[in-house]
Amino acid sequence: MPKLKDKKPKRKLSQESKDRKNLKIRLLNLWSLIVKQKAGNQCEICRGGKCLQSHHIITKRNLTLKWDLRNGVCLCANCHTLNNLSAHGDPLFFTAWLLEHRPEDYEYLRVKKNERFDKNYERIEQELTNNKNLVEGN
Ligand SMILES: [Zn+2]
Repeated sequence: MPKLKDKKPKRKLSQESKDRKNLKIRLLNLWSLIVKQKAGNQCEICRGGKCLQSHHIITKRNLTLKWDLRNGVCLCANCHTLNNLSAHGDPLFFTAWLLEHRPEDYEYLRVKKNERFDKNYERIEQELTNNKNLVEGN
């Protein structure tokens, strides 16, 4: 068994890695804000306006779709996770809802989820900023 003093010191992140990490967080916050704005700051399922959250239809582990607005749905906490009939509580219910209300996005995601991530964060940031301006009418 390794002794405590043999434990490797935590690797320090380079400034470049920290910057990249901060950029990813900034992009996700921007993505979440726009998903809510595009939905008129209402839950897309029940139309409620309390405790709004931005749900990733395809998991955010999929980097190709992590910051894609078509992969987002604005949901209240109940419709997101808390209710039995919610996006996380019943994926079959949520898939049926998606097919009925956003069939074009369902088809787009079905194809797009298998594409390779191009790691072009500048393009992602530009697209999100353009969408934010469109939604806000700038
Ligand atoms: Zn709701």
